[in-house]
Amino acid sequence: MQLLDGQFVSRSIQDSLRMKVAQLAAEGKKLPHLAAVLVGNNGASETYVGAKVKTCSEIGYKSTLHRLGSDISENKLLNLIDELNNDPDVDGILVQLPLPKHISDEKVINSIHPSKDVDGFHPINLGRMVQGLDSFISATPHGIMLLLEHYKIDTKGLHALVIGRSNIVGRPISILLSNNTNPGNCTVTIAHSQTRNLEELCRQADIIVAAIGRPEFVTASMVKEGAIVIDVGITRVPDASKKSGFALKGDVKFDEVAPRCSYITPVPRGVGPMTIAALMKNTFRAWEVRNENDAA
Ligand code: NAP
Repeated sequence: MQLLDGQFVSRSIQDSLRMKVAQLAAEGKKLPHLAAVLVGNNGASETYVGAKVKTCSEIGYKSTLHRLGSDISENKLLNLIDELNNDPDVDGILVQLPLPKHISDEKVINSIHPSKDVDGFHPINLGRMVQGLDSFISATPHGIMLLLEHYKIDTKGLHALVIGRSNIVGRPISILLSNNTNPGNCTVTIAHSQTRNLEELCRQADIIVAAIGRPEFVTASMVKEGAIVIDVGITRVPDASKKSGFALKGDVKFDEVAPRCSYITPVPRGVGPMTIAALMKNTFRAWEVRNENDAA
């Protein structure tokens, strides 16, 4: 069994971005700028945005964090996005989800200009990704593909089972894995809460991508010997032994599943850091597109 070390791969991607940014700085060029918007004070969202902003500063990107109260009106949030869309210094915009109930995720996502949509959630980016055209691919599926690529895992012809059909993880990764690309070229099954015989489907799969949000859902008896297992799930479960009072659990029962696998991602230090690396790559790409003439 080989561990797919997302922490290590993420760092090496960040190192190569840091070198590119240092070069831009040395040439006196405008640096990539990610604007992050955080509404309310959800603990997990604070942690995720904090990690993204910190990574920006480690790489040398400019970042701005716009904190808004949970009672902010939808219109005020849309106005802020409009300002960021029109700000020539901003290359990428990230609105941390989930948003409070009185704000429509859909309206907010659709209001971000596709050329600054580094999270890849805008329908134009999703549609272009489905067609295999150049687009921003949402960070988690993009990060998973970068991880498979780094470990040179040959996925051609394999049966991939994606558990979960969300627009941010399950659905896009199912499309990327089915593309005529490398990695890719899998035969893909997508499962969800209404799927029958899920355990049997799991046992047939060469690759399992678990994006469910149910801690330790995938157990050893569901996994075929030699399978590749990608665990996207992150759930905070109470743990009195931790200073924070919680531990992070994946969707896979790691200790019993890992010995059966050819490759597996841990939680933490698996898909999570790869999501940040992919977001950083997307932000650099946004900068490149906006500054293409200067960069050439
Ligand atoms: P989501 O929108 O809640 O989607 C969960 C999916 O799992 C749904 O499609 C749901 O089916 C399916 N599901 C739920 N119970 C199931 C069951 N018993 N059997 C089969 N399918 C079931 O979640 P998400 O946003 O995709 O996130 C999934 C997990 O990944 C969460 O733990 C989240 O925190 C984590 N995540 C991690 C990262 C990272 O960077 N590592 C990034 C994003 C998300 P229905 O559609 O039928 O409801």
